[in-house]
Amino acid sequence: MDARILIVEDERDIADLLRYHLQEAGFETDYVRDGADALHRAVEKTPDLILLDLMLPEVDGMIVCRLLKNDPRTKNIPVVMVTAKDEEKDRVAGLELGADDYITKPFSPREVVLRVSAVLRRIQVGKQTESTKQIETHGLTIDLDKHQVLTENGPIDLTATEFKLITLFAQSPGRVFTRDILMDVIWGQDYYGIDRTVDTHVSRLRRKLGEFGEHIETVHGVGYRFKESG
Ligand code: CA
Repeated sequence: MDARILIVEDERDIADLLRYHLQEAGFETDYVRDGADALHRAVEKTPDLILLDLMLPEVDGMIVCRLLKNDPRTKNIPVVMVTAKDEEKDRVAGLELGADDYITKPFSPREVVLRVSAVLRRIQVGKQTESTKQIETHGLTIDLDKHQVLTENGPIDLTATEFKLITLFAQSPGRVFTRDILMDVIWGQDYYGIDRTVDTHVSRLRRKLGEFGEHIETVHGVGYRFKESG
C-alpha cells in the first residue's frame, strides 16, 4: 500500500507543489489548510505521515504538533515540520514536541521527497528492531540482549550510558536528537544536567567507536544524528 501523506499548508502554491512531487514519487496525498482541519483529518484518516507547516493562520503549527503528539489516536503518526529558514529555536522546540524531522524553507521538492521517504523507512526499521535483538548498521552490530557492540575487530567496551546512546541513535538513523531529548531518554525527566553532559558522553562514545564514530553527526545548534546507512 502506498503511504498517505497529509499536507498541512495554508499557501496554495506550496501545497500544490508538494502534492505534485509527492504524488510523482508514488505517495498518496491529502491536503488541509489550517490546524483545526489538520487535527480532524489526522484522527479521521490516520495518515502515514504529516507534513506540517509551522506558519499557519489561527492555530500555530507548533500547537498542532503538540496536540497531535498528546492525542493517543495520533501520537504515533510521524510529523515532518516545515519551518522558515534560520528559525533554529523553532526546530529545536518542534523536535522536543516529538516531531520526527524538519525541512527548512525554501526547500527543493526533491529534498522533501527524500526526507519523507527517510522518515517512513526509519519507522519501518524501528518496528522491526522492536522484535529483533540485534541492530546491524554501518558495520556495527549492537546486541540488545548482551549489551554489547561488536565490530569486525571485536567488541567495544562501553559504559551503560554510552550503550544507551548508540542504541538510541542506531534505532533511528537520520533522526535528529536534541540534547534535551537525549538527556530525558538517557537519564529520565527528573535529571537536571547541562547540555555539556550530553556532549561529553557523545564525544567519549565517538572516541571509543573509532572510525565508526564518524557516523554520529553533530547538527549545529540542535543536537546529534546518526547517519543513515547505504
Ligand atoms: Ca504557511
